Formats: sequence, C-alpha cells, structure tokens
Amino acid sequence: MAERICVVCGKTFESKYSGAKYCGSECRTGARKVQCFEARLRYEASRLPSAKVTYSDKISEAVSEARKNGMSYGQWMAQNR
Ligand SMILES: [Zn+2]
Repeated sequence: MAERICVVCGKTFESKYSGAKYCGSECRTGARKVQCFEARLRYEASRLPSAKVTYSDKISEAVSEARKNGMSYGQWMAQNR
C-alpha cells in the first residue's frame, strides 16, 4: 500500500493500485463531472466564438464559487453539477 494524494480534494489516502487518483467514489464522480463540464464549455466556446462569457471565465467562476464554499473545484463539481 502506498500513500497517494487525491487530485480532487487533496487528501492523502492509501491504495494498492498504482494508478489511483481519487480517494473515493465522490471524488471520482467530481473529476468526471469536471471533465464533462469543461468539454461542454469548450464546445460552446467553439460554436459561439463571440459569446460574452468565455471558457476560462466560466472555469474561474466555478473555482471561486468552490473556494467560497471551502471546497476544491473537483469537490464543488461533485456536489453541484
Ligand atoms: Zn478526494
């Protein structure tokens, strides 16, 4: 068993799997939701190049919302999207 750091919440956890990135199912869900959310934003940004709200604006909006609530971006996504 090796100690690892969860890429979503930053907590350390132990896993026998060398590729483990998440401490639990909630963080795994959060990471998947982040990917879907960002893919959707990229798609919207590519379809609407003149859209007022850009891809990076939306991301930083989500990140600051998460911070306000004392969560990481990934944790926030797990609960809210
Ligand atoms: Zn975690």
